[in-house]
Amino acid sequence: MLLTRRNFCQSAISAPVMALFLDALAETGAGETQVGAPAANYMLRYLVRSETAKQQTEGLIEYCLENHIREVLLFNGNHWSPGWNLPTLEEAKVRVEVLRPVVRRLREAGLHVSINMLTTIGHADAGRDERKRFSWQFMVGDDGAECHAIPCPIDPQWKSYVVELYALNASLEPEFIYVDDDFRYHNHSPAAWGCFCPLHVAEMERRTGKRLPREDLVHQILSAEPQPTIERQEWFKLCGDSILEALRIIAAAVQNVSPKTHMGLMCSDPNTHAAEGRRWLDMVGAMSASGNKPALRPTYAAYSETVYLAVPEQISPMRKLQPLLAAKMRFTPELENWPGTRFTKSVALTRLQMALSFFIASPDLTINNILDFFEGGFQYDNADYDRMLRDFLGYYDTLAAYAGECRKERGLEILWDSRPPLHRHVTTDRMADLPAPRCWEGVLDILGFATTFYPEEVRLADRGYLEERSDEELRSLLRGKVLMDGDSAAFLVERGFGPEIGLKSCRAGGGANAERLVNREFAGEYWNHDEETWSLTKYLLEPVEQAILVSKLIGPDETYTRPGMMLFENYQGGRVGIIPFDGSTGDFDMRPVFRTWKRQRALRKMLEWINKGPLPLFVEEAPNVFPLRRDGEMAVVVGIANLTADPLPQVKFRIAVPFEGKPALELLTFSSKGPLSNFHATATDGYLRFQLPVGIAPLELACFRISAS
Ligand SMILES: [Zn+2]
Repeated sequence: MLLTRRNFCQSAISAPVMALFLDALAETGAGETQVGAPAANYMLRYLVRSETAKQQTEGLIEYCLENHIREVLLFNGNHWSPGWNLPTLEEAKVRVEVLRPVVRRLREAGLHVSINMLTTIGHADAGRDERKRFSWQFMVGDDGAECHAIPCPIDPQWKSYVVELYALNASLEPEFIYVDDDFRYHNHSPAAWGCFCPLHVAEMERRTGKRLPREDLVHQILSAEPQPTIERQEWFKLCGDSILEALRIIAAAVQNVSPKTHMGLMCSDPNTHAAEGRRWLDMVGAMSASGNKPALRPTYAAYSETVYLAVPEQISPMRKLQPLLAAKMRFTPELENWPGTRFTKSVALTRLQMALSFFIASPDLTINNILDFFEGGFQYDNADYDRMLRDFLGYYDTLAAYAGECRKERGLEILWDSRPPLHRHVTTDRMADLPAPRCWEGVLDILGFATTFYPEEVRLADRGYLEERSDEELRSLLRGKVLMDGDSAAFLVERGFGPEIGLKSCRAGGGANAERLVNREFAGEYWNHDEETWSLTKYLLEPVEQAILVSKLIGPDETYTRPGMMLFENYQGGRVGIIPFDGSTGDFDMRPVFRTWKRQRALRKMLEWINKGPLPLFVEEAPNVFPLRRDGEMAVVVGIANLTADPLPQVKFRIAVPFEGKPALELLTFSSKGPLSNFHATATDGYLRFQLPVGIAPLELACFRISAS
């Protein structure tokens, strides 16, 4: 049976939870995706073993058609294990001939076929010793650990080899050929961070004019006081150059053999790639040389069951790359379940992760390991995942259609860009400590505030971002609207920007165990209430007189008080808020001390003061939700995911008013879709405030499409 958008309903008949949804679809016809509207696209990453290729192929076709999978990414190799390494070219030739009839047969069945090169450099040695099979230089870590399977990516022997390896696989004429996320310098055990082999050490000597043994070179790269060393600057260039050069020759080899094939790239956390000197836009250029739009498969979401509160933080590596790359690359986020059994991850969390990807990122989603690759077949215990793929395709289609209609994501902007950490101060001799920490990611979301990495007026700043700015960039930023942590404030004072943020001085220190909300305008009903702060890193602020104090830090037995959260409007009209804790060492993320109703109230009023008006989206009386807002020309869609084990009994949120007049509302939940009429929407303080007779189940993403009636 070939998949159509209509027949997905047939497979859902057995699911009672979908009955309502299907009724609603039948009434509105909304399950029928409009022509041209994005539709959810499952892309299955799959291993066909050489020994059982023929039987597996027929099983795979049946599986895909039954579960509405339209694209398959076949592994180039015959193993699924990060410990498996590169084939010799002779082995690769044999394997390509195994895959050739598989590719042909899958295409005959109507499937799109791509190739996933699981290893280009190799993920890890995992006990392998390849020195007898390959004679190239192997990678050496910053600690001197020598790999025996992972090559050095500047060795000319390896470069000639990957050209041949990719050319062989390109002869299958895949739609996309994906480089996996072993294409990097970090995480190649036993080397913690490469590469400090003799070739790299010699290249650094050529670039800097200084000959340094590995230990000294690492030390110099990690030194940035008072200015980044020549070694650090050249190291980023060398690593960036070498990755770019390898990608160029790979892309050229592919284009030469199969001009229609698009390049694809998997990636890891962008902060870590920044510490490898990665130059994203140059890489996109290299991958686009054929004229075919490349794909990015960013790491996305937890591989296994997780603390649900961490969901927003876990998907931010993908979200932060969207403003930089989404217009230039096809996003195909990778949803993992590792190892691929029901012990690893619940269907409910998997379903939510999929929903968020379709709503936030792309109609295209790579799904992984909901099958058991080691068995090379389809596991009985995974039937519940398959059912979910079938039953929720209509729901996912609607999410993708909403995202297509409403393309502009709105929220408080988390400041990020891809610059390498040239100025970051590191006190160890470990390269792994070089990537900038993540300060605001997933923090304000679960307090009810929508965030984004796209440009917005109200911005959230951290030291990692600020320390890579020029004075002019900082001045420009501080003419705007910024909320920052104490560590950022201390840095700005050091850089001479105290007057712009209303501080005479700022330094870490102090043992205050409580914080009192001392300003009625911001504290509301919590005025004079105390917050616990004992586990947070405190900063001692010395504000100017004109600063507005929102809270004070209280010393033991109230023997002293110190300024706490504060606001300031500078002479350029910029508005700045400071929270006197350290977001870069984790004070804001998973520590429950930071998340209370009192803090939420004060922060909302502070952010409104900074913005001189309403915020894009705030969800009320809902602990630990994940709010998202997307704007289109005709509508706004608000998505709210419930990240707790408790149902949210009633939805209340406020948005900065998008249009005049009475709004009309459409509701999408797991079990229903359709217009909602019995709701309250009132205008207050520049907001449109909604109270809806709707609840959200645990791990459900509910969406509200708001339009002018
Ligand atoms: Zn090397």
